[in-house]
Amino acid sequence: MKKIIHLQRIGDIDPRILIVLQKNLKWFFKNNNIKINILPEKLPLLESEYGPYQRQYDALKVKKRLIKHVNNKNYYRILGVMDVDIFSRFLNFVFGVADMPKNKSFGSALISVTRLREKFYRRSENVAQFELRVLKEAIHELGHTFGLEHCENLCVMRYSNSLDDTDKKPPNYCETCLKKLNDFLDDFD
Ligand SMILES: [Zn+2]
Ligand SMILES: [Zn+2]
Repeated sequence: MKKIIHLQRIGDIDPRILIVLQKNLKWFFKNNNIKINILPEKLPLLESEYGPYQRQYDALKVKKRLIKHVNNKNYYRILGVMDVDIFSRFLNFVFGVADMPKNKSFGSALISVTRLREKFYRRSENVAQFELRVLKEAIHELGHTFGLEHCENLCVMRYSNSLDDTDKKPPNYCETCLKKLNDFLDDFD
């Protein structure tokens, strides 16, 4: 099975965000023989996944549908990318969610870019900073799908509770996580 991460748009999102993310992920995973693909069709947002009380979408419901959608497609990894605010269980917002892999051949994750924009906090936009944040959240959630847990080191697998946490962590795995990742990827075939 080829190692391909498929990027899936969910709801309205500027396609250029995915093109930049594809380029950055391609570079990031260049030594792991992982390809990055953008799926052409867009999945809609569903009313049933919207929490009127939270005024946000329920990340776990969306992820569940994403998994259902790709069932039987034989995808290696899928990363849903959304531009609406999301919550998860008791967390009043999340940047993303992911499954720990039950088996190595499939994993899914989801990120929302909404709170990664300066604009969300009424500050002036910084495109380079935004793109870096999107990359960090993507490699964090994908890291979970490769079996990585939260990490205390100076590492992209550090838990982000705020945008400040996201900005402080580097856009890469620490040595320990990188070793785990390489072991995970190596004995897959
Ligand atoms: Zn995490
Ligand atoms: Zn780490």
